Amino acid sequence: MQTSFTPEQLADPHVAESEKILRRCVHCGFCTATCPTYVTLGNELDSPRGRIYLIKDMLENGRPADQEVVTHIDRCLSCLACVTTCPSGVDYMHLVDHARIHIENTYRRPLIDRLIRNLLAAVLPYPQRFRAALILAKLGRPLAPMLKRVSALKPLGAMLDLAPKAAAKASDATRRGTHPAQAEKRGRVAILSGCAQPVLDPGINDATLRLLARLGIDVVVPEGEGCCGALVHHMGRENEALDFARRNVDVWTREIDRGGLDAIIITASGCGTTIKDYGHMLRLDPAYAEKAARVSALAKDITEYLATLDLPKLEPKRLNVAYHSACSMQHGQKITALPKNLLKVAGFTVRDPAEGHLCCGSAGTYNILQSEISAQLKARKVRNIEATKPDVIATGNIGCITQIATGTEIPILHTVELLDWAYGGPKPEKLPTK
Ligand code: SF4
Ligand code: SF4
Repeated sequence: MQTSFTPEQLADPHVAESEKILRRCVHCGFCTATCPTYVTLGNELDSPRGRIYLIKDMLENGRPADQEVVTHIDRCLSCLACVTTCPSGVDYMHLVDHARIHIENTYRRPLIDRLIRNLLAAVLPYPQRFRAALILAKLGRPLAPMLKRVSALKPLGAMLDLAPKAAAKASDATRRGTHPAQAEKRGRVAILSGCAQPVLDPGINDATLRLLARLGIDVVVPEGEGCCGALVHHMGRENEALDFARRNVDVWTREIDRGGLDAIIITASGCGTTIKDYGHMLRLDPAYAEKAARVSALAKDITEYLATLDLPKLEPKRLNVAYHSACSMQHGQKITALPKNLLKVAGFTVRDPAEGHLCCGSAGTYNILQSEISAQLKARKVRNIEATKPDVIATGNIGCITQIATGTEIPILHTVELLDWAYGGPKPEKLPTK
């Protein structure tokens, strides 16, 4: 694609990067076929190619974002299916990241939209605030149908619908310090506790700690780590996202210097995609660029790390598992076969639902802010999963677990919960007793 940025515009490193990305696009349109919003809405402006044109036009003309651009960029899930599909290697992720920052800096959203976004940014990344909000959500749940009838308040209704009906029990996995190996020591890793996951489903990191301990791995939960920044990053709130990233980089760098780390384990693929991008996000910060690149290189999804530990092959079990590959896993991190292979080696029968490349509609806060498109994608995803007639669904991202669980009666678990069970851990509570 030809571009016509001025030398003054290209002096801005963010614009220079976007210009390089734009120039790779050859307008072929292959990406439209796998874009969930284009497949759902059928509008070229809700396709990757359409959004690329809108972003080019906005940046090239140095214009503030307008309502049309905001509408179509807001509808983008950042699922990155287009990145997987694109034959020219267009780095849409960093292009849309730049567009979102530009929108945040130049567009004044309607009051209610601003308040809801401020609320999400002030609550979700902080476990204690999020826990308190879930208690309030339980009380407010009866108001959800009424809120969803008022267009501007739909996100609040969607939020109440998504809130779990019962609060999760407290977990040992967030206890700071070292959770020691219970077998001959083979390694030392840090684990991300994160923000929303330990509140919504603490059993995921509990299972991870148990499994790693039995495999001889010391797991450190360092003091001071927290949200990876993905939630605010996807809202274009770059300064907040970089603050979260710097804080985690400091914490993990201290831990690397103290005892060395073989990996930084992440059990939510949405967070994994962002932490693997810290090196890029902080590349222009001389005090952090090197440290952040080191952290990104150490970041591993739990299934990537487990695959290095040569888990033994187990007898087949009579349990059919539909594997849902989160977008951040398959498109963001290019981890596709690994989790399924681990499940197969552990004795599970793994089934691949049709249209596995399409997003379930969760996408961070998308199921709150774009609840109608999200609901259509969820229904499509659940139809495809249920068609495989599974006993259980496995996936590697808490956002997908929360989203899909509200659309089906089939239990949905994190992949590591099934692996922990198969290799000697307790049976996950969500599974039927027989
Ligand atoms: S990130 Fe997903 S929703 Fe956004 S343009 Fe690409 S394929 Fe479409
Ligand atoms: S597939 Fe790639 S090159 Fe083709 S239109 Fe989409 S982004 Fe551009």
